[in-house]
Amino acid sequence: MDCIFCKIAQGEIPSATLYEDEDFRVILDVNPASKGHALILPKAHASNLYELPDEAASKALVLAKKMASKMADALDCEGLNLVQNNGELAGQTVFHFHMHLIPRYKDDDVKMGWKPGKLTEETKEELLSILR
Ligand code: AMP
Ligand code: ZN
Repeated sequence: MDCIFCKIAQGEIPSATLYEDEDFRVILDVNPASKGHALILPKAHASNLYELPDEAASKALVLAKKMASKMADALDCEGLNLVQNNGELAGQTVFHFHMHLIPRYKDDDVKMGWKPGKLTEETKEELLSILR
């Protein structure tokens, strides 16, 4: 399979690595949204969150917490977004599961957000019946 993040995670393609263990590599994003924008890559391929094994999912969030704390200490950031896209429509461009750690600074140029809608009674009941 020709997956660039497999090659990066496994060290076949060089990357600016911030952290590595037997399951993950954390690298700097080549097109950062802000200073310090990093990506958490599992070494074992999973295309997205749905395919990610439970054990890797658990470890990924613990690692995200560790990296986020380190960034909060080491960078002069005032916040941090943890972002994870699944599917092209949701903005996924590399189809190997990854989590973005995006440090946030006052007056940075990071655009993220949505227009808040209104949860109607009807939709709420529908969703509770489908998803609960
Ligand atoms: P996503 O849109 O969630 O799939 O995110 C993919 C991210 O990977 C983007 O932020 C890209 O800038 C980043 N990216 C793509 N290729 C590389 C690479 N070779 N090294 C580091 N980051 C990359
Ligand atoms: Zn891969």
